[in-house]
Amino acid sequence: MNDLSQTWQSALIEIQSLVSPANYSTWVKTTRLIKEEEGVIYLGVPNEFTREWLFKKCHNSILRILRQLNEGVRALEYVVLKDEEQKAVNSKKQAFVAPTMSMPLENFYVSKEDNLNSRYTFDNFVVGPFNELAHAAAITVAKTPGLAYNPLFVYGGTGRGKTHLIQAVGNKIKHDFPNKKVFYLTAERFGSDFFDSLQNNKAQQFKEKYRKYDVIVMDDVQFFSSKQKFQEEFFHLFNTFYDTSRQLVFSADRHPNIIPELEDRIRSRFNQGMIIDISELDKESRMAIVRAKCTPHNISLDDGLVDFIADEIEDNIREIEGIVNVIAHNTLHRGRMLNLNEVKVILKNNIKPKKMLSVKEIVKTVCGFYNIEEDSIYSKTRRKEVVKPRQVIMYILREDFNISFPSIGDKLGGRDHTTIIHSYEKIRSDIKNNQLLSQEISQIRTML
Ligand code: ADP
Ligand code: MG
Repeated sequence: MNDLSQTWQSALIEIQSLVSPANYSTWVKTTRLIKEEEGVIYLGVPNEFTREWLFKKCHNSILRILRQLNEGVRALEYVVLKDEEQKAVNSKKQAFVAPTMSMPLENFYVSKEDNLNSRYTFDNFVVGPFNELAHAAAITVAKTPGLAYNPLFVYGGTGRGKTHLIQAVGNKIKHDFPNKKVFYLTAERFGSDFFDSLQNNKAQQFKEKYRKYDVIVMDDVQFFSSKQKFQEEFFHLFNTFYDTSRQLVFSADRHPNIIPELEDRIRSRFNQGMIIDISELDKESRMAIVRAKCTPHNISLDDGLVDFIADEIEDNIREIEGIVNVIAHNTLHRGRMLNLNEVKVILKNNIKPKKMLSVKEIVKTVCGFYNIEEDSIYSKTRRKEVVKPRQVIMYILREDFNISFPSIGDKLGGRDHTTIIHSYEKIRSDIKNNQLLSQEISQIRTML
């Protein structure tokens, strides 16, 4: 995770592309990032007008941008600054980077040592029919690390709580077994670490680094690279852990048996332990989660509203959190409970019409954005001006719409799924260093 000031810098760049230059300098430039607490970003503003303007015109966009940059962001609050505080801001050359930014902000509660985010615990994990088996297995593993199920493999769609659950295992072990060294990372990070070590002739250090842990929690292993050496290294690490009864916990968006490009021997290792899914959220669970997510905001919604919201929202807890944030913010702003109509408006404006978009429509939007012919996307051409938009489409279809790689291949003119994976991964890694590309994709997302 980037630190907070960097997140805010990136957010500003995006906000700049959304508002006119005049509005930007009047309203946005005068703000200052104050702090982050429990996922709430506090933005200092010079006066009530600015607060009002930002809230009315940009609140949802800023929140969305922040959440895209950092999924730990839950809400955005404005704080009207006193004169002298404001002067301190104005006298700074870089007005947005407040001096407080150098204060440790715990990087949204992520520990530098083990990468665990202390926000993810069993205490704040809602259990329902959709996740109770996974939850029970996770509790067992946390109580008896290395002994019960090894590895524990949790899979399920985006936003169903995989990261939360597997990190809760890590956090509980860390708390209950202070001698055990826990480490959390994504499979992608493991891969890039490995390749860095090869390039720098540090393969031995890499081996030693990972072997010193007692528990490894690895997220998103669907992104296992097909690179043989990497999987080989992983295989050995796996065996070392398994043979010495040290716990491994994995997550993926699908069952290991259908993760493409995974070596069979690794697949069978995953199958040695406990594989368990988090399934689609049932209505009762959606309601329970809406209620639970209201609690930290100190608001409570009446049953009718909760029922209504649970019917409208998607099967994605991250989206539920987003909606509840907006509702909470509106409630605070108005100083009273919202009525059904107001909630309806909020839902209408905030639920992404994801499920209704067809691949064709997405192709159309992206082509419109890059100003190229739609047909070229489906064709075999490798012209540069087509290749990039095509890769962006593949990326968006995968990342935002969760469409399988083979199916993306089919829909985009019968391409092989390995091409799709390659393109997806290329864009995913490019956006980290290429700010322009990352801005383009954000812009496209706002158009979808
Ligand atoms: P995934 O990794 O499956 O995409 P996450 O674990 O990132 O999903 O969950 C998305 C958001 O929903 C996180 O903010 C997480 O804290 C929250 N969340 C997920 N599952 C639960 C749950 N059972 N109870 C409460 N909050 C949850
Ligand atoms: Mg996750």
